[in-house]
Amino acid sequence: MAKIVDVASRTTLYEYGEVAELAGKVRDLRTDAERLVPEIRGRRVWMVNSTAHGGGVAEMLPTEVSLLRELGVDARWVVMEATEPAFFPLTKRLHNMLHAAPGPPLTPADRELYESVSRENAQELLRLVTRDDILVIHDPQPMGAGAMVKQELGLPTIWRCHIGVDVRSPEVEAAWAFLEPYARMYDRALFTASEYVPGYLSAHSEIMYPALDPLSHKNRDLSLHHLVGTLCASALAVPYWPLVAPEFRTAARRLQPDGTFASATLPEDLGLIGRPIISEVSRWDRLKGFPQLMEGFRRMKLRAEPRHVGDSQIRLRLRIVRLVLAGPDPAAVQDDPEALGVLTELKERFRELEPPVQRDVAILALPMESRPENALMVNAIQRASTIVAQNSLREGFGLTVAEAMFKRRPVLGNRRAVGVRLQVRDGVDGRLVEDPEDPTEIADVMEEMLAHDERREAWGRAAQRRAYDKFLIFSLLSQWLDVFARVAHRRSTGE
Ligand code: UDP
Repeated sequence: MAKIVDVASRTTLYEYGEVAELAGKVRDLRTDAERLVPEIRGRRVWMVNSTAHGGGVAEMLPTEVSLLRELGVDARWVVMEATEPAFFPLTKRLHNMLHAAPGPPLTPADRELYESVSRENAQELLRLVTRDDILVIHDPQPMGAGAMVKQELGLPTIWRCHIGVDVRSPEVEAAWAFLEPYARMYDRALFTASEYVPGYLSAHSEIMYPALDPLSHKNRDLSLHHLVGTLCASALAVPYWPLVAPEFRTAARRLQPDGTFASATLPEDLGLIGRPIISEVSRWDRLKGFPQLMEGFRRMKLRAEPRHVGDSQIRLRLRIVRLVLAGPDPAAVQDDPEALGVLTELKERFRELEPPVQRDVAILALPMESRPENALMVNAIQRASTIVAQNSLREGFGLTVAEAMFKRRPVLGNRRAVGVRLQVRDGVDGRLVEDPEDPTEIADVMEEMLAHDERREAWGRAAQRRAYDKFLIFSLLSQWLDVFARVAHRRSTGE
């Protein structure tokens, strides 16, 4: 079923342009639009994905569509739903295989199912689009339907792939082989990293980074009082004055030495307002490298104590620094056994920590009932961090990295995770370890980063510039306009 999603107008370009630091980027986008929008005049742009809620794609599409409209593009958002219940388990399998997860081989019956649902969806799409439009299909679920519409109408079509892995396992190859007949139909394919592009698409592919919204609750600037107010309203810090803003609907919780979750201000205030803080905020996913990061922190702490560090300031910083590992409240991931498993394992490791180390590690459960409140908590934690870590063993992109860079935080990442090394330049925007599973290396780099104030400042500044230049919604929109103009031109000139 194809459903047109009503996109309420959101923050306008005018409003973004009113913000001093964003004015230049908005101006650049408007200049690009003046040149490119006339090239696609008269064409509607259809963005098609498979869900209206949940996941980064559904989160960003309304903003993209709304801003494209403001720039004069007749953009629409369509969600393709399958009436056949077996379809999404199949596309979920494809998704996992494209991430190199082992699974049962794809069968002719799978092909038949994918084809028949795609055919049905293509019929629905054909009721909406014309040969003068531009069709943008996101991810593998609606890819088949888009290819069939292309075959029927010959309109310009683009496939945006938000996933990928830099491993070529038999599963990855099988999934790409399964998708090949449809993928080949598209004029352009957009990938997050060149490592993810299957060989047969290389001539038609280009790189497009995901982007963040600089005025969203997750990223917008927080004044000192607003930042401290957010920490206190969500019980991430103890207020020493009456709070003017109302408390959040649900407070953050913190893992206690007895293994239960209780108020995040217990057994004592976390120190987010004053202590040096290293944080990682992510889903409770095995690939996010939480226990390995904790072990690196533990090593750094244990050796910092007895060893003589000459500089008393550095010695003190190493002594009082805390590690914050934050993710969704377990209540929000009850139906995700992997997340619960990761959290249980982390809990066990936490309980085994030496008491002085344990005191300096906070495992936080951030409530998900209210999206804006959750986003503000993430925003405040990232802003309260001296260093933001993303120790992912693997990472498609890792928006958390861009979010930290945007907030002028130096990043501790690693070279293994494509998405992390794509964003962070070692020694420029922070530091990359070679191996996210090597606690000694992590400890060394943490210590180095904590010891050098000026370097941290410089890394943070460079990171922020890079985020402004590469990872904001404005550059993404310029790139979309450019791709639209190219595919439209190719078609009108019959290339
Ligand atoms: N995130 C959040 N609340 C949490 C944990 C994570 O809002 O409790 C957000 C995080 O800020 C980021 C997104 O979830 O915007 C994760 O995206 P990313 O690309 O880093 O990783 P993914 O989860 O897609 O693997």
